[in-house]
Amino acid sequence: MHITILGSGSAGNCTLIETDTTRLLVDAGLSARQIANRLALINRNIEQVNGIILTHEHSDHVRGLGVLCKTRPLPVYANRLTAEAITTDPEWPATVRISWRLFSTGGSFEVGDLLVESFSVPHDAYDPVGYVIRHPGSGVAVGVLTDLGHATKLVTERVRQMDALVVEANHDLKLLQEDAARPWALKQRIMSRHGHLSNDAAATLASDVACDKLRHVFLAHLSRDCNRPELAQQTVADKLRKIGANHTAVTVSSQDKPTATLTL
Ligand SMILES: [Zn+2]
Ligand SMILES: [Zn+2]
Repeated sequence: MHITILGSGSAGNCTLIETDTTRLLVDAGLSARQIANRLALINRNIEQVNGIILTHEHSDHVRGLGVLCKTRPLPVYANRLTAEAITTDPEWPATVRISWRLFSTGGSFEVGDLLVESFSVPHDAYDPVGYVIRHPGSGVAVGVLTDLGHATKLVTERVRQMDALVVEANHDLKLLQEDAARPWALKQRIMSRHGHLSNDAAATLASDVACDKLRHVFLAHLSRDCNRPELAQQTVADKLRKIGANHTAVTVSSQDKPTATLTL
């Protein structure tokens, strides 16, 4: 299995998960043009993508969806509330019809040779989910967790025994609290139990689910103003070292360019 975060942050999120025969995007929150450009940077193209799986309806996760699906009838996997929230948004282009593949939160489905498991995460959206994506052929599994206010017991249980984990490290609590540009109500929303994970919370989650096979942790959805890549990296890496998980690499994804492709 290969994992490339094409871009991640509050301005847009999109991750490519691949096997030899199947390619999946998790979210389409960059513009369609940016998604095409970034796929081209790694010698891929949108025609090779078999489907898009959505975590929730916020614009930084679905921004490119309309244009992508206008030009090509890609299957889009989402739960019903997420699909409804997208297509009833006043800004949704009325002419675009999506090939929805609806699933129930908590359920799993197959796309090509990948098995996708969904589970509920606490975030201020209609029915937000996290995913575990498994390649039964090789036994490899990756957990994808962006946009959650806190790691519930369910979340922690679902992402144990992963080979790789994509987890949100949105903000440094101190930088968020000191940010003069952000109104108090917005800070409250970000810090709430239905907001976004801090670096410390991501570190705690990563160390809680660390195991012999966890080789890689990608940090995602970093705030431009209230975080710094080296701070997020250090916070999570330090915590993993502390519990002896020296085999687990930690890399920070970028809003502006794809990560190196991880092959498992
Ligand atoms: Zn969100
Ligand atoms: Zn988001």
